[in-house]
Amino acid sequence: KHVAELIAAGEVVERPASVIKELVENAIDAGASAVTVEIKNGGITYMRVTDNGSGIFRDDVAVSFLRHATSKVHSQDDLDTISTLGFRGEALASIAAVSHVELLTRTQDELAGTRYVIDGGVEQICEDAGCAQGTTIVVRDLFYNTPARMKFLKKDVVEANAIAAILDRIALSHPEVSLRFLRDSREALHSPGDGKLKSAVYAVYGREFTSGLIPVDYELNGVKLWGFISKPSAARPNRSMQQFFINGRYIKSRTAMVALEEAFKGSIMVGKVPACVLHLKIAFQAVDVNVHPTKIEVRFMNEKPIFDAVYHGVKTALNQGDT
Ligand code: ADP
Ligand code: MG
Repeated sequence: KHVAELIAAGEVVERPASVIKELVENAIDAGASAVTVEIKNGGITYMRVTDNGSGIFRDDVAVSFLRHATSKVHSQDDLDTISTLGFRGEALASIAAVSHVELLTRTQDELAGTRYVIDGGVEQICEDAGCAQGTTIVVRDLFYNTPARMKFLKKDVVEANAIAAILDRIALSHPEVSLRFLRDSREALHSPGDGKLKSAVYAVYGREFTSGLIPVDYELNGVKLWGFISKPSAARPNRSMQQFFINGRYIKSRTAMVALEEAFKGSIMVGKVPACVLHLKIAFQAVDVNVHPTKIEVRFMNEKPIFDAVYHGVKTALNQGDT
């Protein structure tokens, strides 16, 4: 049972960045308007995520760390129309199985908050604690009890960069949430949370990129497309600044990438690629989000409407950008 638990944990928790992704998504699901992420040593020894969301009731705290404990899906029907980010009820259980976790949380309705400590999946402490409304989770010594996994971790700087990339995407997919990232005590990101995508793009990429943006706002066959593309003159040497989001979730989509680059064909230098931050909105039923625990690859029932919307939306924006 214990070994099975560790294997299951490995499915969700591959590296520090996957922990941060799950914890920040939980914070956003809990209605937080501000989330602070702090890491040390690439997150391997220390990760802390603080939010001002709903908090967790004392009676629900231990339950939250059980596998398949989720407050977010109640029936098979819900599974078809998932709108929250988390839904498998595996993240907290998996993280706690392979690290030392300390949680501080308080709901609006409670006078006393809760401090909960769980090591390698085993509860150690559950006690009263004074704290603000919301939740703070500290994760220490990831994979301390799974040396084989520990061996696969890269250098601190590589793990920290992976976390930074995840947080960039979260900032870009949730402009309404103020996201702050402290990397070894240095502020590496601070998005304002004013709800404007442009502000989030500015926080992530800086003024240089933001000054050369063409806005995109388009709809075709029930697919909405909005965001920003780079001017053809601001083409990049690689695809690291191509970001696609579907229904608020970062995705890797070859179809969207090909459509973007096709639309730029002829207006961009050979060997260079456009940058973009593009959001797509389509009916939940048309996206299969229940594909993989890490939920990055999303399957579409039909790729053509995605291609068409991106291609024509980007073409239209480029033409308007010309005039
Ligand atoms: P899931 O997000 O798939 O439901 P998790 O294991 O990530 O599963 O979390 C388990 C449960 O713990 C959530 O359903 C939620 O009720 C609660 N929870 C986790 N993190 C937070 C948070 N930051 N604020 C409030 N509740 C939380
Ligand atoms: Mg979750």
